[in-house]
Amino acid sequence: MVTTPEGRVRPLQKGEIAPDAWTQILATCPGINVTVDRGEDHDGGVDDLIWGHHHRIVLAHAGDTDLRFRSTSGGVLSALGSYLLRSRQVEFLLQVRASASEPMRSETILSRTVEEVISCAGVRYGPAAPLGAIREALDRRLPFAFIGKPCDVVGLRLLGRLDPRVGQYCKFALSLQCGGGPEFIKSRDLVRNLGLREEEVSLLRYRGFGNPGRTRIETHDGRAFELTYQEMWDDQSKWCSHSRCRICPDGIGESADVVVGDHWPGCEPSGEDAGFNSVMIRTSKGLQLMAAAAEAGDVRIAREIGLDEMSLHQPHQVTKKEEVWGRLAGLRAAKHLVPDVEGLRLREIASGQPRSKSMAAAKGARRRLRQGRFTEPPVREECK
Ligand SMILES: Cc1cc2nc3c(=O)[nH]c(=O)nc-3n(C[C@H](O)[C@H](O)[C@H](O)COP(=O)(O)OP(=O)(O)OC[C@H]3O[C@@H](n4cnc5c(N)ncnc54)[C@H](O)[C@@H]3O)c2cc1C
Repeated sequence: MVTTPEGRVRPLQKGEIAPDAWTQILATCPGINVTVDRGEDHDGGVDDLIWGHHHRIVLAHAGDTDLRFRSTSGGVLSALGSYLLRSRQVEFLLQVRASASEPMRSETILSRTVEEVISCAGVRYGPAAPLGAIREALDRRLPFAFIGKPCDVVGLRLLGRLDPRVGQYCKFALSLQCGGGPEFIKSRDLVRNLGLREEEVSLLRYRGFGNPGRTRIETHDGRAFELTYQEMWDDQSKWCSHSRCRICPDGIGESADVVVGDHWPGCEPSGEDAGFNSVMIRTSKGLQLMAAAAEAGDVRIAREIGLDEMSLHQPHQVTKKEEVWGRLAGLRAAKHLVPDVEGLRLREIASGQPRSKSMAAAKGARRRLRQGRFTEPPVREECK
């Protein structure tokens, strides 16, 4: 994998790819296949047209005060990971964190200790590939848990259809709620605007140390800079989201056991708070995990959350679900490649919307296509 000058992490083809490897790539790439697959779990739960299958939704946070403070929002993902290690249900977690040698970039890690899990706390608003070490994880033939974005979980489940070791050894798939991943240029421009070069940066923390906390940049020579959450995200034109994320049919982790999000009205913080997560539990395995982690004190459950409240706190996810069928239809009509989508109710959701909404979504997608935002230069040998 290399980073292109446009800031995208992409595979660089270095030799000929055998036909059976191509077949595997095409079958497992979550960029072109989006499915709902929660492994063997068919035990109870309810279905919602927008929010999908789930057993329970709660407001929660990490039981440990320090972890709650330093993590992205309430620390539930790190707390669940720590609980799984401590209770010896898994031997390691496959996840990402800031790279030690290049702190503006992310690295994949197999965390074997609670300290390592805590070192991964904190969101990475840039390219991150937790499946980068999936072969290494499977080759260990030990029980493990996975933490990633919804698309990462889909990739994992798709691989599970070809490689039975996924079902055998990956005991839990935990996801964050995802409104779309920024390209690396978001981070590059952030430090450039401060007059810095990447080599000078010793720390880039996007959030945490409070909820939402501040973005903090430190340099090797001891300087420090901070930006508020609003300064980072108020201007939507500078989000630098991948175009593929704009047509993502699943930002809400429908294939995960547990999906963890922020919880602010309108998904916008109005100030600092003590740190909370919405936790959508999608499988009976996830239900048992949350109950056991709460019993052990790793996680604290504050209260139940209803679907209306979820929609009020994640309005962009609702809009995306309502519009994505139209967006894909617009691209398809222009003969552009679109992902194969399975089990996500997109047509049904769109048919409940005014036709004008789907038409506008289709037009918007075609406009982006005409602007060249769904195509990119080929990956070149000199990319790092
Ligand atoms: C690209 C992106 C978009 C997001 N969009 C939304 C949104 O629309 N709505 C919303 O409510 N919240 C969104 N979030 C925030 C996300 O919901 C929080 O990270 C989540 O609530 C976890 O909080 P926590 O305190 O439990 O996490 P922590 O305990 O801090 O743990 C975070 C975990 O996520 C992993 N992780 C961090 N960044 C990435 C990444 N880029 N790829 C894969 N794994 C990663 C880390 O390895 C760690 O295990 C987004 C996050 C990202 C990275």
